[in-house]
Order: sequence, then C-alpha cells, then structure tokens
Amino acid sequence: MTKYVYDFDEGDAGMKKLLGGKGSNLAEMTRLGLPVPPGFTITTEACNHYTAHGEYPPGLQEEIDEHLRRLEERMGKKLGDKRDPLLVSVRSGAAISMPGMMDTVLNLGLNDESVKGLAEQTGDERFAYDAYRRFIQMFADIVMGVERSLFEERISKRKEQRGVTQDVELTADDWKELVEEFKAIVREKAGRDFPSDPREQLDLAIRAVFRSWNNPRAITYRKQYDIPDDLGTAVNVQTMVFGNKGEDSATGVCFTRDPSTGEKRRFGEYLVNAQGEDVVAGIRTPNSLDRLAEEMPELYEQLTQVMDKLEKHYRDMQDIEFTIEQKKLYMLQTRTGKRTAAAALKIAVDMVEEGLITKEEAVARVQPDQLDQLLHPRLDPDAQYDVIARGLPASPGAAVGEVVFDADTAEVRGSRGEKVILVRWETTPDDIHGIIAAQGVLTSHGGMTSHAAVVARGMGKPCICGAEAIKINQAERIFEVNGLVVREGDTITIDGTSGKVILGEVKLIEPKVDVNLEKILSWASEIRRLGVRTNADTPEDAKRARDFGAEGIGLCRIEHMLIGEDRLPIVRRMILAETEEAREEALMELEPLLRRDFERILEIMDGLPVTIRLLDPPLHEFLPNLVDLRVELERLKHVPGEREEYEAKERLLARVRAESEANPMLGLRGCRVGCTMGGVTEAQVRAIIKAACDLKKQGKDPRVEIMVPLVAFRKELEIEREKIIRVAEGVKEAMEVDLDYLVGTMIELPRAALTADQIGEIADFFSFGTNDLTQTTLGFSRDDAEAKFLPVYLEEGILTDNPFQTLDLEGVGKLVRMACELSREVNPKIKLGICGEHGGDPRSIRFCHEVGLDYVSCSPFRVPVAILAAAHAALGDVQDATK
Ligand code: ADP
Ligand code: MG
Ligand code: MG
Repeated sequence: MTKYVYDFDEGDAGMKKLLGGKGSNLAEMTRLGLPVPPGFTITTEACNHYTAHGEYPPGLQEEIDEHLRRLEERMGKKLGDKRDPLLVSVRSGAAISMPGMMDTVLNLGLNDESVKGLAEQTGDERFAYDAYRRFIQMFADIVMGVERSLFEERISKRKEQRGVTQDVELTADDWKELVEEFKAIVREKAGRDFPSDPREQLDLAIRAVFRSWNNPRAITYRKQYDIPDDLGTAVNVQTMVFGNKGEDSATGVCFTRDPSTGEKRRFGEYLVNAQGEDVVAGIRTPNSLDRLAEEMPELYEQLTQVMDKLEKHYRDMQDIEFTIEQKKLYMLQTRTGKRTAAAALKIAVDMVEEGLITKEEAVARVQPDQLDQLLHPRLDPDAQYDVIARGLPASPGAAVGEVVFDADTAEVRGSRGEKVILVRWETTPDDIHGIIAAQGVLTSHGGMTSHAAVVARGMGKPCICGAEAIKINQAERIFEVNGLVVREGDTITIDGTSGKVILGEVKLIEPKVDVNLEKILSWASEIRRLGVRTNADTPEDAKRARDFGAEGIGLCRIEHMLIGEDRLPIVRRMILAETEEAREEALMELEPLLRRDFERILEIMDGLPVTIRLLDPPLHEFLPNLVDLRVELERLKHVPGEREEYEAKERLLARVRAESEANPMLGLRGCRVGCTMGGVTEAQVRAIIKAACDLKKQGKDPRVEIMVPLVAFRKELEIEREKIIRVAEGVKEAMEVDLDYLVGTMIELPRAALTADQIGEIADFFSFGTNDLTQTTLGFSRDDAEAKFLPVYLEEGILTDNPFQTLDLEGVGKLVRMACELSREVNPKIKLGICGEHGGDPRSIRFCHEVGLDYVSCSPFRVPVAILAAAHAALGDVQDATK
C-alpha cells in the first residue's frame, strides 16, 4: 500500500520530491529539534493521482483521518471543537520552490461555534473574529473562487465609517459584523453557504491546493523556469500559531545573509501583532530585523541562534519564515534563499573561506547564466533619470549614445569614434555594419528572437526590441514618444538588461571582474578540462576577453577589418578588378593595413593561440547595394555635366550585377574565393605572417593559427594549405625569423564533417563553425528562420530550443561527434574546438565537454560564463561517476 501521508517527524530534507520543499524542510527542522508547529504532509504522488483522476487515491482519506486524529491527540484539541478548537493551515509546497504561485489557507477549522471557543480560550474576542474573517476571506478566494477584493472593499468601508485607518483599530464587534457580511457575499457569489463543518473545510482546501498546481500562473511560471509539469505539489496541514495575539506576538521573514549583496549579516523584516500574509501584502511597513533586538531581545537571540543553526546545517544561505506567539518562537519555513549574481558569488566564496563548503560546491552553486548580469556595463544605481519608454530586454547591458536612424550614418559616425545608438523600426541583415558601429540598438518592433536581438546578443551589445511606444519618423529623422520629440543627434541611454529607454546620458558602471568572481573562475579553471577562448576581431575585444580569462582567440574574422571607411574602397577595387594587375595592386594596398591590425591583436594575445580565419563572407557584402546604385544612376541621368560620373557608375552597376548571386550564402565565399581568385589568400597570409614575425623580432611570442573557411573537399584544403605554407615560409625566410604556426580548417558543412577522416589528415586543427553547420544541416537560413517560422516551431513544440542558441544535439551534434572521432583516428594530435555562438551556451558547452573538444570559443562577455559552464560540465562527470 502506498503511503501518502507523512507526519513532520517521519520525513527529512532528502524527501523533497515526495514531500515538496516546504514539507521536507519542515520535517528536517522538526528532526533538528526546532520549534515547528506539528503537522503532516500529503505527498506529491497523491496530488498527481488527484490531477490525473480528479479524486483522492484509494486509502488517502483514511490516512488523513488517522494523521489528523494523532495531531488532535498530541495537541489536546479537536479540529473545530466548540470549546477549544484546533486550527490548522493548509499549505502548498512543490519540490522546486515557486514562490507565491500556489495557495495557502490559514485558520482552518473556524465556524460560528468554534470561534466562540477560540474567543473564550484566548480571552480575546477581537482576535477570534479577526482570525475567522481572515479564514473566510482566504478560503472563499482560494477554495470557492470568490474574488478577494469584494472583502477588502467591505473592510475599507468599515474603517471609513469608524474613522480609522488601520485594521488593528477595528473592534471585535466590527469583525463580528464583517463576518456576517462576508458570509453573505459567499452565499451570493458562490451559490452556497460557507461550509461550517471543519472536516469538509479541510477536504475542500486539500483539493484546492492540489488543483492550484495547474492554475494559470503556476503553469506560466513552470514554463518560464523549465520546471516539469508532472512534479505535483505536496500539501502541508499544520497547527496554527498566531503572530497576531498582541504586542508580544509577531511574524516575519529573514535571510541568513544579505540576498542582494551576499554580505554576511542577518537580514529580515517583521511585523508586530500580525499574521503571516500581512508582511508580504504590505498592509503596514515592516520593521527591519535589527529592531527585534531592541523590542524582544530574548526572542531575537533565539531566532538568530536558529538562523545560524539552519545555515550551518544546510550549508547554504537560508530564507526563513517565523512567527512569535506571545513570546514563543515558531519556525514555519526554511529554504535555500534566492540571491542576485553578486550575492551568489560572495556567499559561495565566503562559505569556502569559512570552511562550510568545498571549492567544488562553491563553483557548482553559481549558475553560468547568472553571471551574464554582472558582465555588462550597468546603469549607476545612484543615478536619477527619466524613463521615456520600455521595450523587451533583448541583449543585456547599458549604453549611451546619440540617436541615429540608419546603419550608414551609424557607421560613418561610429568610425569617427562617436558614440551612437541605432534606432530602427526593426533591423535587417543590411544593417549589420551599423550595429557593429553603434553602442547599442533600439527597435520599436520585433521580439526577443528578432534580427536585432540575435545579432546584438552575438556581439554582446545592449539591445532593446519592440519598444512600441516609440514612433519613428524616418523622413524627419525624429522619434516621438508620448508627446516627446527626440531628434537625430540627441543623446539617449538604453538598458538592455531591463528594457528601459532613458532620455539623456546616465552614468554607467563598467563591468569588472571582482575578487569573488575571480576566485570562482580560478576554482572553476582548476576543475574544468575544456579550454576557453574568445571570438574577437578587434584589439578592444581581445583585451577585454583576456581580462575575463580567455586563453586565446578561437575566431578572428578578417572581414571585420575590411569594412572601415579607409578599407572598403580598396576592397571594392580588389573584388571588381578586371585584370590581375589591378587586383594585385589593391591587395598590396590592403596588406600593410591588415598587418598592423594583426600585430595589435597578436600582441595583446601574446603567448596565447590566435586563430585567424581567412576571408569568408559572400563578396557582395562589400559591394554597393544594387538598388541604391540604380537610384543614383537615375538621378545622374538628369544632371547635366555628370556624364563621366554616370558612365563610371554604369560600369560599376554592370560589375555589381555580374557578381550578384541567387543565393550568396551558398555561393562564391569561404575558401572558394581563395581557390578561384588568385592572390587573395596570399595577401592575407603575408599580412598575418609578417605581423607575427615583427612581434617575434621584438622578443614576443605570437601563436598564429590560420584557418581556412567553408571547406567541403579535401582538395580545397590541400590547395589553400599549400599556398599558405609557401607564402609563410617565404616571408619567414625573407625576414629571417623562425616561427611556428598551424594551418587548419573550419568544419561548417555536413560534407566536411562526413569526410573528416580525409580532411583531418592534412589539418592541424578543426574548428566547428556551428552557426553555418546548423544552417546547412537543417537547411535553415537563420534570419529567415528566426523572423518567420522558428517562433511557431518553438510554440508548437516541433523544436524545444532555438538551434542557433543551443546546439541541436541529435543532428548537428551527431555530425560534430562523428567528425571528432573520424579525424582523431587519422590524426591523434589534431586540435578540436568550436567557434559558433554555441561556444557560449552552457548546455552546448556540456556537450563539447562530453565529445572531448579541446576548447570552446565565445564572445568576450561570455568567457566567464563559458569557464564556469565548462567546470559544471566537469563536475557533472564527477557526480555521474559517484552515482
Ligand atoms: P507561500 O508558499 O506562499 O510562502 P506559505 O505556506 O509559506 O505560503 O504560507 C504563507 C504564510 O502563512 C507563511 O509565511 C506564514 O507566515 C503563514 N502561515 C502558514 N502556516 C502557518 C501556521 N501553521 N501558523 C502560522 N502562520 C502560518
Ligand atoms: Mg512561505
Ligand atoms: Mg561560416
């Protein structure tokens, strides 16, 4: 026979799944000998049975009767007794805490008879009727579905009539009359009398708590936090104690450490002469716990002893509920306290230093995603500002800049070193250069998976999407928001963490790696096996990533060095050259510019590997837009004396048209450019190797890894590799420098993964480009997918995660795994890494750990996240091994 009911002295903290968090901890506190009002817990299994069948499982009723009988015996009182009634609370409590999501009924057992007994026993008629009306209010709301506000209205009215402002100023007679009014409301709204039989009350309350597992807010909460729907809630039936029995009674909530800073100081709030829900409801402003030391020193002493004991016992910061009934302390709940990221770090580090937990436990207790909060510029918490609009917090961090309304302006002003915020209706792939140049992005449309959001997150730039109140007038270059006009050039501040749009400049606080984060990361590094590198194209990003602990660059993209104002015209000449000489000439011009860029990045990463990817994107990304060109031509046609200009533009148009492709992402790009267009690879390699040789001559230690993109066939890599080595060796000889370097390839096409044994033979390393590998394996183009059908797929459950954020393990992951195995068989020394956006996603990192990659590479701001996630992955192995 399944046991469905456990007395508080039958359970313990290990029974969370069965008894829920609240129930198992009440049992644990009972075992520890703490003053817990007696009671029993009905298991989550009983709830699940009720959810499935709409009725109690066989035997449950009898078990409840038996436990209630024992409780009555123990308390020497009977539920609903006329002379001295036992009162209980009926409290929900799931295995995973869902604060405030489900329901609790207090003071159960009162009716017109037992309330008199309570009044007599306590000698306090006012108290008894106050308890009774509270019970009716809660029960009517939670069990009978009568709106709570109806009762609150009556109370307010009564206070008005009596000329008082506080509930405590109402008298016994007031409450007596209100009780009658409340019962009338119930009769009218619920269509039945308020149940007076205490056993019926209990039965109805238990069923209501069971049902509350599936109330809409609980369902939404579970979805939000990925909590399984089949856990069910337990029900705790517990003897009532009263914090509202006068000035020597109180109720409160406390934390063993400060949940926002993590400081080791007790923290809490309480109300004198109040019942539990009053503290949360904000009926009166609660006192800080320190006051209790003055008001009730003895109880303060007892409470702090209990707090210390609980923290030591659970070895973690506790969030505790207590009640004092006429100078006697009772513990009503304890659980691991929620905390901010900063507090999580501090508490974890402090507890290691106090000898309370191990370093491994400390690392395990900080959630990688939580770090995100800390690693971006933030609004100064002391600053004053005007929020003019709110949107979706699409990419965290705050940024200040002048408003611009198009990507080209953003780029021009950004390249002059000016700080701008790109404000768009919605962004498209054509806005990329503007996003790169801007401090942050604000859109009036689009959601969390819109283009702007995705791109900004990838770049670690603040972004707010869907700020609908903002009406952009592109022609007049203004936006209006609630009657306020903001012009191009006006300064705004955006906070992508909260979604606030603010007029003017707000002081920002730069993220820094504080001592606690540093310690956690260094402990994490002792634990992890995976290396962590960064994707960085600029010296600034490289520097930031190294400060955050990156152990090299896993992806440095040349193309981002080609789009500056001084570079783009040369690149265009290179692409559109009609003769070999013209192309060579343009390449010669580019080479020294690139060489300087590489030198700076290699210098910052001195002693650490830097993987430089040769030119990859479709060439049209560097060319003028066809439509723009046509418009310009149309204009010139009518301008006299612009003949020459017109003809030049016409030739350009013809060339751009000739270069245009039906499907550029699958067209002439990646190594295909190097394989078909003479001199392009050579010039890049010369710039890279010369930069490295320069540094070597200065006594530095540059570690270059040259990466060939978009290889599908071994032959492609063969051709490019031969070229790279020939050029590199030539430069070394000419500069008389000895330099080691690696030549490898990106694995980002299914064919490359499938033939990894062939390709792996001639590669020093593989880097999995999982963005493209996801696109090509799924046959999704990312922008189209995210803009059009992906949201629906996620909604419909066709996919459970966005495959561009979390690696599709079954498909793409299988290819990655296969490529690792195939390549290692033929080339055991091959280095394997990942440089897609997945390299910063904790769940994907776990997979990278499992398949035995050497490193992950992610955006600079994600480096600490990845370090921690890599440690968690390694700790997971340890836990698995001990199972
Ligand atoms: P939640 O999960 O929403 O916190 P609880 O079950 O903890 O709900 O109940 C809310 C409050 O009701 C508690 O903080 C406590 O103050 C009060 N409460 C619950 N049970 C009792 C009891 N047996 N005696 C006195 N107060 C209680
Ligand atoms: Mg609670
Ligand atoms: Mg790619």
